[in-house]
Amino acid sequence: MERAIIPKGRFAPSPSGRIHLGNILCCLLAWLSARQSGGRIVLRVEDLDTARCPRRYALQMEEDLRWLGLNWDEGPGSGGADGPYYQSERTARYQAALDHLADRGLVYPCFCTRAELHAASAPHREDGQVVYAGTCRRLTAAEAAERAGTRAPALRLRVPEEEIAFTDGHMGVCRENLARDCGDFLLRRSDGMFAYQLAVVVDDAAMGVTQVVRGADLLSSTPRQLLLYRLLELPAPEFIHFPLLLAADGRRLSKRNADAGLDSLQGRLTAAEILGKLAYLAGFNSSAEPKTAEMLLEDFSWDSVPREDLRIPEGLF
Ligand code: GLU
Repeated sequence: MERAIIPKGRFAPSPSGRIHLGNILCCLLAWLSARQSGGRIVLRVEDLDTARCPRRYALQMEEDLRWLGLNWDEGPGSGGADGPYYQSERTARYQAALDHLADRGLVYPCFCTRAELHAASAPHREDGQVVYAGTCRRLTAAEAAERAGTRAPALRLRVPEEEIAFTDGHMGVCRENLARDCGDFLLRRSDGMFAYQLAVVVDDAAMGVTQVVRGADLLSSTPRQLLLYRLLELPAPEFIHFPLLLAADGRRLSKRNADAGLDSLQGRLTAAEILGKLAYLAGFNSSAEPKTAEMLLEDFSWDSVPREDLRIPEGLF
């Protein structure tokens, strides 16, 4: 018998420091969107880069989400049948997916150094990523074996010459020709770390996620992920991307904006004050008045969320 499809959203943060307003908005929208459809929420900690994401940051983040009233049904502290919920503990699953792709001849080793990648001067994407020129795709098995004697390779996926189109739940129709706009992309780095693109697909599918809510900076990752869903024969979730939150000066939020971090906010504002102001900024609270996540459920609608970047006005927080 097929499993009944329960709507399921997720929080998938990479805890590389204390959370900031951008992370909070992401979790708030994911929470509202899932809860409004009667869905469950999974918390998955994306700590593949264990040096940048030590466990103490993850624990702090879990405490912060609880303080904000953004609860989850499956994940650290909540149990669930699809764990473990830390990516650093799921590498055997990523290896199995990689093997599955490799068995079908879709994976090849890449020996390019960072300098070589940049020097290959393939056009850069708008988001600053380099389009891989395909240098190592053409190596013979003998050449690859010889190079492997001196340098551990990264592993790349052969992408087809084809346009991938999808309809984002908020941003509308998006399309990309992966061969032209991205090139063969990484599945595993030369130091053995699995790539985000592979891990996120394996995990969202394994955890039964039906709805992915995340910032528009990941919109351009979606065609790569859709290709992986297809190649791994896994059902793809619905994707809903929301506009980025920018500092008052129009730049991306970063460690420079210390006042946007929960570290600073928590001393000055209650959880309901933070959520109410964020919801106002994102179009679904008529004023900046304090509201809990539960209260915001009542009026939440994706229709009122803008599609352009959201600039945090001076003095709002
Ligand atoms: N872990 C990613 C981040 O924190 C998000 C991944 C996703 O939502 O697909 O940026």
